[in-house]
Amino acid sequence: MSNQAKKVKMDEKPKGILERLNAGEIIVGDGGFVFALEKRGYVKAGPWTPEATVENPEAVRQLHREFLRAGADVMQTFTFYASDDKLQNRGNMDPKKMTGYNVNNEACLIAREVANEGGALVAGGVSQTPTYLSGKGKEFTQKEFQKQMHVFMENKVDFLIAEYFEHVEEAEWATEVCKATGLPVATTLCIGPDGDLHGVSTGECAVRLVKAGADIVGINCHFDPDITLAAVRKMKTALDAAGLKAHLMTQPLAYHTPDVNKQGFIDLPEFPFALEPRVCTRWEIQAYAREAYNLGVRFIGGCCGFEPYHIRAVCEELAPERGFLPPGSEKHAPWGDGLRLHTKPWVRARARQTYWKNLKPSSGRPFSASLSKPDCWGVTAGDQELIQKTSNTTDDELKTLFSTKG
Ligand SMILES: [Zn+2]
Repeated sequence: MSNQAKKVKMDEKPKGILERLNAGEIIVGDGGFVFALEKRGYVKAGPWTPEATVENPEAVRQLHREFLRAGADVMQTFTFYASDDKLQNRGNMDPKKMTGYNVNNEACLIAREVANEGGALVAGGVSQTPTYLSGKGKEFTQKEFQKQMHVFMENKVDFLIAEYFEHVEEAEWATEVCKATGLPVATTLCIGPDGDLHGVSTGECAVRLVKAGADIVGINCHFDPDITLAAVRKMKTALDAAGLKAHLMTQPLAYHTPDVNKQGFIDLPEFPFALEPRVCTRWEIQAYAREAYNLGVRFIGGCCGFEPYHIRAVCEELAPERGFLPPGSEKHAPWGDGLRLHTKPWVRARARQTYWKNLKPSSGRPFSASLSKPDCWGVTAGDQELIQKTSNTTDDELKTLFSTKG
């Protein structure tokens, strides 16, 4: 497709998310902001909260721009974990310096600014809360979401994403709050094919979320593309059996996790500082995009580990269906074709699809194993160990943890 055609596509006024999905369009999501911005030095691993919208707005803006250039149709506000209770958990953010309102509001302004540069939609995002994990109940948990919703409505976001829920009950409560705004709602759980952390099956979770008002349901984070697609397949089967209709969405990790248990990648010994050997290649992400499409998923994006080049890979794989390549492909001829220009003949010989499609990349680590033994998750919502605290973990508390969990 010519540059002119790409430009026309980018200049089109965006229709609503449901209008586009109902018309059979593929919606490409963005990637994982907290993981990408942690590596760039703007997010702290541990709390994983998005104060960067206030502290380093140019870093957040640039990452949005890169995802837009890679072909994302959705700019999700960088409001992951931006409920007041999470921002202040364990002494993380000083509410005198900035408020949850500031963090959420700046996120909306940045997302809209970049979305307008390329005809993308803005999605306000909420995620799981310490209030729920502390067992404080529906009223208090929904209050946390309502505060964020107020900011999203002020900023006129296009739709809402409730994501990263380990318990379908909390996701239902979030969906209800989102639905009350009148905007379209996408809800995703961070679970695999074995169900949520209270033992509700993955299929039943999807049924409950649609009944709670979700227009789009699916899975994000915690598991690799293969496991995520296996989980969404269960959702699809259960929704069909219940006679319910919803669009499907997947935003998996860009890390291979064949060895995880029900709690996902946070139980891996490499989480979160040594996951690099598990990163999916762009070619593996192309395979994911094709499999998701074949399964009937039409909102296809990524979560932690997904960098802009992974989203570009989704767009390149689905270019025949979408009818165009993203601006980011101007410097990336599909399937390594740009290597024709390489000076070395053996590298020029890699300018073909069969080479990259069949490659089994090595890790380069002579003594690294292909799999790890994950920690065993053992506690869930309501457990004493998960109760929210406003002060940081003390040295004594850490000593106890090192001796019992080390
Ligand atoms: Zn994630």
